[in-house]
Amino acid sequence: MGGLGLLNLEKFSRALRLRWLWHEWVSPEKAWVGSDIPCDDTGRLLFAACTTITIGDGKKTKFWQSGWLHGRRPRDIAPNLFKASKRKCRTVADALQNSNWIREMRNTTTLSITHLVEFVQLWGLVRQIVLQNGTHDTIKWKLSVTGEYSTASAYKAQFLGTITAPKLSCIWVSGGPDRLAIRGWPYNATSALCRQTMETALHLLADCRFTRRIWDHIALWVQEPLLKPSNWKIANTALEWWINITTTAGTPRKALCSIALLIMWVLWNERNARIFNRKESSFISVIGKIKEEMSAWIVARACPLGALLLRD
Ligand SMILES: [Zn+2]
Repeated sequence: MGGLGLLNLEKFSRALRLRWLWHEWVSPEKAWVGSDIPCDDTGRLLFAACTTITIGDGKKTKFWQSGWLHGRRPRDIAPNLFKASKRKCRTVADALQNSNWIREMRNTTTLSITHLVEFVQLWGLVRQIVLQNGTHDTIKWKLSVTGEYSTASAYKAQFLGTITAPKLSCIWVSGGPDRLAIRGWPYNATSALCRQTMETALHLLADCRFTRRIWDHIALWVQEPLLKPSNWKIANTALEWWINITTTAGTPRKALCSIALLIMWVLWNERNARIFNRKESSFISVIGKIKEEMSAWIVARACPLGALLLRD
């Protein structure tokens, strides 16, 4: 019987602590806001499950910690990236500016294919977000008619089977039966792009024959020799490779980051289409997709790509 007759102290005190999280949102002028809120992660997960955040200018919502991305917290979508992130408290607006959330990854030598999977997944969701300047982020409490927090509903919510933390597994299933990803990826699968070599993050992004032809072609197209694989420094991990190509002195770094991300994105989708839908695009068609995406980005001014493509 849910224990509603007899007060469950643990659940009741958690319900009370959720009030702090609620006030952090709705009354930021209160003095205690900004100090450490006495709430464990179970409480924060519950809070995310009980609320709906609508992003406006992104200045209030915490990028990693708030459940703003389709109701999920980026730290749950990408737990390993969250661990590697140097700035865990940025707002959505700050994090999106100059792709800060991507730049602020600790230079770990253990970047694995799991990191890459998380990265591409999170990036794919984040890139669809358009901030609305002049509109505040808003929050709604799902469990009351008014959309306002109440201690009673926060208490009762903990007895409902239906209110659970957003599940991670559904992220991967949503795009198709990606069982490999759910199981954490076998490392011995052959590259879906060349069908010759073992697939690692580094292989997929930089070493694969198919991938290198793409980079060569794009390097020529944007007239940026640094994107040519033959000019790359030797890298042992995908992260090392990423740092090499995006931090070379004297290059338009932001533009290179954007192009590299975009190529990664298209390659990633191509890989998945081959594995999960048995659908294969030709080299020319993959190049076409990259160019199309680049043009769309430039038109949307969503990134500094134009600076690179339109320079003399
Ligand atoms: Zn390959």
